[in-house]
Amino acid sequence: MIEMTNVYKKYPNGITAINGLDVRIDQGEFVYVVGPSGAGKSTFIKMIYREEVPTKGNVKVGEFDLVKLKAKKVPFLRRHVGVVYQDFKLLPRLTVYENVAYAMQVVGKNPKQIQKRVLEVLDLVGLKHKVRMFPNELSGGEQQRVAIARAITNMPRVLIADEPTGNLDPETAWGIMDLLEEINNRGTTVIMATHNSDIVNRVRHRVLAVENGRIARDQEEGGYGYES
Ligand code: ADP
Repeated sequence: MIEMTNVYKKYPNGITAINGLDVRIDQGEFVYVVGPSGAGKSTFIKMIYREEVPTKGNVKVGEFDLVKLKAKKVPFLRRHVGVVYQDFKLLPRLTVYENVAYAMQVVGKNPKQIQKRVLEVLDLVGLKHKVRMFPNELSGGEQQRVAIARAITNMPRVLIADEPTGNLDPETAWGIMDLLEEINNRGTTVIMATHNSDIVNRVRHRVLAVENGRIARDQEEGGYGYES
């Protein structure tokens, strides 16, 4: 469960990106985060995995109080919150296998557990046959699949996707969407910031529209709601 109460975020440059935001997201939900550029979507999302800390208010993720959480405890939170980005952020000198295994090595899993799980998640994303390839040998869609595999390898309760289809052609984007749905169906909360109106309008889920640093609309099975 994720809960934000009366959250404000003012950056050092004086911009208030989040301006009195309240929201609650239950375990297992699929939530789209939509809104115009500069509305505060990324800041909102970054506060869930403690990339940003609010200036005021409370953020709770499961049993973690993210305002009180000490920096050295952040890795414990990150085991429960996987993140994928628009630009994938794979490590270019590591193979597909190594990119995913790395996420488990840093949390201290043993080599046998790692091998089993890495092959399992790469199978889930349909890339078991490309384990030895490097990121630059893969298409954008394949790179995003590796990034998703890496994000779910430690079985997080929450998967955050910040514009995951932003760099992909429509057909590839649908493949990524199917994968996020599959992960959600297995019980993981999925929070996806997106400008992809086709996806939001066709695969209906809860929509949180962020405008001026607040939730301007919170709608079950909502539409995209903006010109695209
Ligand atoms: P969105 O994801 O909806 O485009 P952001 O959360 O990225 O919105 O940005 C909200 C506002 O905060 C914008 O005015 C942006 O310029 C500002 N902002 C975002 N990140 C930073 C930062 N690290 N430092 C200063 N200002 C920022």
